[in-house]
Amino acid sequence: MSVQRCDVLVIGSGAGGLSAAVTAAWHGLKVVVAEKEAVFGGTTAWSGGWIWAPLNPLAKRSGIVEDIDAPRTYLRHVLGNNFDEVRVNAFLEAAPQMVAFFEEKTALQFQDGNRICDTYGTVPGAGTGGRSVIAAPYDARGLGNLVKRLRHPLRETTFLGMTLQAGADLGAFMSVTRSPRALGYVARRLGRHVVDLAVYRRGMQLRNGLALVGRLLRSAADLGVDLRESSPAIRLIYESGSVRGAVLRTRQGEVEVRASRGVVLAAGGFPHDPERRQALFPANDQHLALAVLSATGDGLRLGESVGGIVDTTLAAPGAWCPVSLVPFPDGSIGRFPHIIERGKPGIIGVLANGRRFCNEGNGYHDYVSAMLAAVPKGEEVASWLICTRAFQRRYGLGIARPAPVPVEPLIKSGYIKVGQTISELALICGIDPDGLERTLAEYNKHAREGRDPVFGRGSTPYNRLQGDPDHKPNPCVAPIERGPFYAVKVVPGSFGTFAGLKTDGSARVLNSTDRPIRGLYAVGTDMANVMGGHYPAGGINLGPALTFGFIAGRHLASQPN
Ligand SMILES: Cc1cc2nc3c(=O)[nH]c(=O)nc-3n(C[C@H](O)[C@H](O)[C@H](O)COP(=O)(O)OP(=O)(O)OC[C@H]3O[C@@H](n4cnc5c(N)ncnc54)[C@H](O)[C@@H]3O)c2cc1C
Repeated sequence: MSVQRCDVLVIGSGAGGLSAAVTAAWHGLKVVVAEKEAVFGGTTAWSGGWIWAPLNPLAKRSGIVEDIDAPRTYLRHVLGNNFDEVRVNAFLEAAPQMVAFFEEKTALQFQDGNRICDTYGTVPGAGTGGRSVIAAPYDARGLGNLVKRLRHPLRETTFLGMTLQAGADLGAFMSVTRSPRALGYVARRLGRHVVDLAVYRRGMQLRNGLALVGRLLRSAADLGVDLRESSPAIRLIYESGSVRGAVLRTRQGEVEVRASRGVVLAAGGFPHDPERRQALFPANDQHLALAVLSATGDGLRLGESVGGIVDTTLAAPGAWCPVSLVPFPDGSIGRFPHIIERGKPGIIGVLANGRRFCNEGNGYHDYVSAMLAAVPKGEEVASWLICTRAFQRRYGLGIARPAPVPVEPLIKSGYIKVGQTISELALICGIDPDGLERTLAEYNKHAREGRDPVFGRGSTPYNRLQGDPDHKPNPCVAPIERGPFYAVKVVPGSFGTFAGLKTDGSARVLNSTDRPIRGLYAVGTDMANVMGGHYPAGGINLGPALTFGFIAGRHLASQPN
């Protein structure tokens, strides 16, 4: 077997892995990134790209200045028994340093998310803005030939192959029928996209997670990181109580990569590891993971093989998201994450008994948690999002985009169910018609006055941000009265996993006596989620993934050879 040498071996090329690799390389270390798939980027490339990083320099430059105690207080309240003081402090202290490091020293530039508030606005310390950033859009031509090794976007969340960024970009696409300015912007974006498709056979205006990966890859290449695709790590080299590298399976056969400083596990958690999922996920047989198929729990198994411990005591083992199944014309079935339309005025979610079960405008994780709790044992865990055709044309419904994109193909494929009356819709969906009629009568009575006394839609800043600011008096509540009525079925799904390897504040993997295993780090979703399995804000996967990657890279640079 051939033997190769470096200072640091990183296993996996998502946010966690690339952050560790770029940081270590910037400190002068010789770094190898081993990626299992033929393309780089992992689930990170498919993500919305939002990064929770309180106290970040972009917010400060805009005059949003907070004390570290504010986000710490917020996390202490939300995380409760799962609040891990050491790791939370490590995260909060390093997150602003991470953002500053990347924007000052690398190709990773950011845009602010100063309007984005935390999920639980009534909890002490909740942020009302300034805790999120996103990678600035990136022209993939900056990657040169490397662009061929970059993952393509997730088909379900693109429009004609284009990634759209939440905020002004997406807003323009949603108001194209009402604003000439938006129409002009969209026409320019589309025109450029068509040229890119003709020349490069892919979208080149990278946004969201793809822009993040594109910029991290550019930075890694600039710093001389050795990027190796199609090279899964299959076992760790463990000698005299230290991890000293790993064996990679490559097209040329097995290669032993010896890493003098250490190995970083960043293989994307266990979204597609059937055994660990069966052991940990509620309603696992009905669960639809959105993560890349190569995230099969390798990092967790590699960690366990040298004494690492997987923390299964978190509030939830995964980052939940409601998902609908999309029948595509080519016969394949897609998975669509319901992130945006649930918060708009004029839509509700109901169970098979026709009853609502939560504030639909709350976070995606909470929608699924509420669904899991509300469905009686033994029944299929599913709910239906119900709205009018007018709502769908205005805001979209799942993958059925707003006007002027036609909805008819998705009605024909059976994705969208249609009823001229509520009871007709209920019968088509298999919902109890009397239950649904009663629910709508009760909901509409209050919704006409902009109220939702049962679940409080519109009661938090997060709800209102998700709503429609032009809809009065409540941006999140409107009656559902005039047919035709539309419905789409949503089931439990996930963005990624939370249960992961126990680590310390330096991202070192801990053994059963809580001592660091020499030479082994875990970041991203291979590391037990620092939010303790809670979902206090959008961006709480990528923020910690980048931050603990940065912490690991810096720590490795401080180690002797
Ligand atoms: C649609 C969608 C939207 C999302 N939006 C957001 C958001 O806006 N903000 C947020 O915080 N989170 C978001 N998430 C979640 C977030 O994307 C993930 O939690 C995060 O990207 C995980 O990063 P990672 O570095 O742990 O793993 P990944 O990005 O999945 O990278 C892991 C890599 O490791 C590779 N690998 C696996 N096994 C091996 C092996 N044996 N050897 C070598 N390589 C291996 C995989 O192929 C993969 O490329 C979203 C997720 C989805 C699906």
